[in-house]
This record gives sequence, structure tokens and C-alpha cells, in this order.
Amino acid sequence: MTEKTARIDFRENSRNASPAVVAATQNSTRTALRKRAAVVAEFGEERWQELRKAGHEIRMHALTHLDRYLAMVEEKVTAAGGYVHWAKDAEEAREIVLGLATERSVRSIVKVKSMVSEEIDLNPALEARGIRAYETDLGEFIVQLAGQRPSHITSPALHMTKEEVAALFCEKLGIDACPIPEELTEHARLRLRPEFLNADMGISGGNFLIAETGTLLIVTNEGNGRLSTSLPPVHVAVVGIEKVIPDWESAAVLLKLLARSVSGSKITAYSTFITGVREGGPKEFHLVLLDNGRSRILADKVAREALLCIRCGACMNTCPVYNQVGGYAYGAVYQGPIGSMLTPLLLGTGLAGGLPFASTLCGACAELCPVMIPIPEILLHLRKRFVEGDTFESPSVPGILKAMAKLGRIVLGSPTLYHLGGRLGKIFQAPLRRGDWLPSLPPPLNRWTMARPFPAFQGGFRGWFKNRKAAVKQAEGKLHE
Ligand code: SF4
Repeated sequence: MTEKTARIDFRENSRNASPAVVAATQNSTRTALRKRAAVVAEFGEERWQELRKAGHEIRMHALTHLDRYLAMVEEKVTAAGGYVHWAKDAEEAREIVLGLATERSVRSIVKVKSMVSEEIDLNPALEARGIRAYETDLGEFIVQLAGQRPSHITSPALHMTKEEVAALFCEKLGIDACPIPEELTEHARLRLRPEFLNADMGISGGNFLIAETGTLLIVTNEGNGRLSTSLPPVHVAVVGIEKVIPDWESAAVLLKLLARSVSGSKITAYSTFITGVREGGPKEFHLVLLDNGRSRILADKVAREALLCIRCGACMNTCPVYNQVGGYAYGAVYQGPIGSMLTPLLLGTGLAGGLPFASTLCGACAELCPVMIPIPEILLHLRKRFVEGDTFESPSVPGILKAMAKLGRIVLGSPTLYHLGGRLGKIFQAPLRRGDWLPSLPPPLNRWTMARPFPAFQGGFRGWFKNRKAAVKQAEGKLHE
């Protein structure tokens, strides 16, 4: 997701989606949704909704006062012996990390799963300088070994079956691996243990930054987060500026929401709290605060709510589109509904303007989102910006479609024009009509019918509406008799 990213063609990527990837994805998301539903039911629906509301309010409050809380973080981290660096974009963030590594002659790094490090393309930059970065989260370890990118923000390897992972371990690690999850985990553990002990630097992201004490909060289920941030002599955390929250009370609320939404558990196995340099830990702590377009998003009154995201992945698990195409179709670090909002917002050009259209707007994502982000509303807003040629201006929307959208707005706003349009539509559609459908339309309208038939104009809406109004009036009259 750097400035060099190529334009994302979701339609083309979806066509090329591997059926095996899609099947494995559906299998994993089904399990995740089942576990989430059970743990939320146990919590109680009413309490859960109250918790979601509280989570939304906390995140909104933090975003509204971002400048104040970020200044607080800087002050507290510095007072605790750490260093704070500000990166305006991906390139600056990479240069800061590379500079720190080069100055300290770092050769080997252990990494905690971090979407932000994916966002800034950190691993290829480290490799180009001859620095080996080991992903230590099991899913990340698997995709790194396979030379792939994560296909889900919380379960990077959810598109692979255990048989595929076993075959990968046999090939890349030169071992005899069976497709048994516990055994595969043990192989990865043995492979990574010496890297934890020998690493010159640990790199992490962060789930939250607690402003009142300048504390970095990292949640993991494997303990790799704690090892990576305590054994190496230097710890560098690269964190998006939107991750700041006011206080520990806020953290308690958000942790309850996060654990249940990510893994269907009451709490994650490890919650690691790091405040600057601590006794017995790394001698240096560096916090890189990354903007990379977030300030720009904040200026958009509708889209800014995308920054409330706590990266739980629940919207992806429930999304019918994500489940039909898998994560790779989104061609970016963030996939599913959150990717359809964040990727175009972060890229800020015509590179990903098609992603907001990768949604049925069914609203399942918003129903599950633990911090109540109005995802369909934001997607509609981004579509509008795209069609109107805002920052998402792209040659892929022909002028005629834009003109037709404007014409549609005028016609739908006038009962007379609507009636006339319906009559004309019925006349023009006659040669194309097959039953209730228009299976193929002439260009450029065939952009729709290439993927699915268009329903034919039925007519009679005004008559139906008139009759219905009369029926309602009659029923009301009877009620009052
Ligand atoms: S948008 Fe909501 S549901 Fe989706 S990852 Fe973010 S917090 Fe989770």
C-alpha cells in the first residue's frame, strides 16, 4: 500500500480467485462466526449492544481529540525513556525503521503480526538492506514461508488448509510434517525459538496506545508478541495515529469487544502492556507514529468513522462478497468491508476507487462491527465521491455513466419524468426482454449485464401505489368505526 501500488482491479481479481482459496476461506469464516455468536450470546445481547455503544463512543472521543491524546502519548513515552518518531507517510516510516536498524548494525529481526508494517511494505525494504525479518505469528510465519501476503487481517493464512501447510513445511523446512495443527504449531515454535534468542531488534505494531500513561497494548494468542518485544535489545513499534485511546478504562471496554469479535474468546491469551523502557526488557524503545493518509481521512466527516476500526476482522467473516472471492481479490493489505473503505481512503487516488463497489450493501458487516462503524453508509459515500470524480477519479468510469447517474437523479426526483421514463423504458426494452429479465444490454450498460441480468421494467408502480394507499385508508377508516 505504498505510493508505488498498482491500480486494483477487483473485478479481474475476483474472476481469478482460486476455488480452493474460496472454499478454505468460507470454512474458516464459518467457524469464526459460530464461535463469536456463542460468546456474544453468553455475554447477553443487551449488554453486548451497550458495550458496542461504549466502544463507539470511546473511539469517537479519541478521534475527535486526537491531537491532544497524541501529544500526551509523546510526553509519557519520552518520560518513560522511549523515543517517539513521527512519520507522515509509508516512505518516512520505512526510513525511520531502516535508519534505526542500520545505526545499530541489525542483521536479524523478529516481528509481531502488524498490519501497519504490511501497509508500509516494511519486510521487502528490510530485505533489500540485507536484514532478515522473521514473522513470528503462526499465520504470518506460514504466509511468509509461502511467499504470500495475508488474506485476512486477523487470520493471515485462513485461505490455506492444514494439508497445504504441512506440504509447505515439508518443502521449505525440510521436515516430515503431518497435517495435524498441534504438530505444525510445534514445528513452527522450534523453528522460531532460536530467532527470538538471536534477534537484534523486535518490531511490532500495536492494538491500542493508552494516552494517560503512554502505554502500548499488544494482544496476541501465541505469546510471540511478548517474546519479540522483550528478548531483543531494541523494540520498535510502528503504530497508526488512530490507535490512541484515552485511558485504561477505555482499554478494558475495547479489549472485551476485540477478543470476542476476533476469536470468539472472552479474552485473548496474552495482553502485553509496554510503557517506554522497562527493567529487564529491551534497552531501547522506539515508537513510530504513522499518519500515511489518516489525517486526510479525518477531514472527511462521513469517512472518518472508518478510523474507529479496531481490526477485529468480524466484518470480513460475515461479508458475502469476501466469502465469495477470498482476500486476494482486494489486492491490498486490508480486505473485505474494512478494506473496501480503508484502501481507497489511504491510497487517496484512482488506484482503489472500485473497491467501495465490492459490496452488496446488505449491512451484515455493520451489524457485527464491535465499534458500530456505519460501513454501508461510508461505502455509499465513497461511491459517490468516486462517481463524482473526487479524489478517486478514475478512467474506469466512462463519462456516459456519470451523465446517466445525473440524469437518473433528475428523473427519479420528478413524478412526471419518472412516469414518462417508465413508458419509454418499456418501449425500448421490448427487443431485449426475455421474460422478466434483460440478459444483455448494449455498451456501456453491459458492464452490469456481463456479471448478472438486469430486471426488466415492469411498470404499474403508480397504479399499485394508488391502490395500496386506498387500501390503507380503507383499513384505517374501519379501525375508527
Ligand atoms: S470495520 Fe468493524 S468489524 Fe470490520 S475489522 Fe474494523 S472493527 Fe472489526
